[in-house]
Amino acid sequence: MKNKLMHLSNETMNVGFVKKVEALSGSSVRRCFQCGKCSAGCPMSAFMEHPPNRIVRLLQLGQGQRVLAGRSIWYCASCETCTTRCPNKVDLAGIMDALRKLSWDADGPSKESYVQLANRLFIENIRTYGRQYELRLGAAFNMKSGQFLKDLMLGPKLISKGKLKMFHSKNKNIGEIEAIFKRIEEMRKKGEAL
Ligand code: SF4
Ligand code: SF4
Repeated sequence: MKNKLMHLSNETMNVGFVKKVEALSGSSVRRCFQCGKCSAGCPMSAFMEHPPNRIVRLLQLGQGQRVLAGRSIWYCASCETCTTRCPNKVDLAGIMDALRKLSWDADGPSKESYVQLANRLFIENIRTYGRQYELRLGAAFNMKSGQFLKDLMLGPKLISKGKLKMFHSKNKNIGEIEAIFKRIEEMRKKGEAL
């Protein structure tokens, strides 16, 4: 990716946001001394406009909105390589989780709002059926993202090969799955879960 000059501003500085990230992740961004070992090992770094070490640097400078407006946090695969490689014990994978949570709560301005939409629909499907119902997921995604014809021609092929089912019954343990969702909601209210 081409390096572009980045203009940072006091007006966009939000120290409160950085404190929230630190509280949620349990990791201090001030520990980072920009050695770059996290980015060197990150398998998704090539797809991110801000590699992991730069995400931490932006947070050190209080530029949370710039981080949320980019796609890097949604390209992170939560592999934890960065956390393992960091000589200063910065839990960068945990920081990425915290950033996704804050972006989710704020409903964007993420460039990757389709990722958020796909995540939301995926979870809704699990809650409704107790399992993934791919056809419904694909149809709901196309409707809600306004891409009505996206991958439409793939549907019949996948159905004919038995890779996609037209109908799904609910998981018989749906009650237990609902109880898990309720427990997570309670934990989130108490600040015990992301
Ligand atoms: S490996 Fe750790 S100290 Fe080095 S740049 Fe990444 S977060 Fe900072
Ligand atoms: S957890 Fe995310 S940021 Fe860290 S190395 Fe893996 S993909 Fe990269």
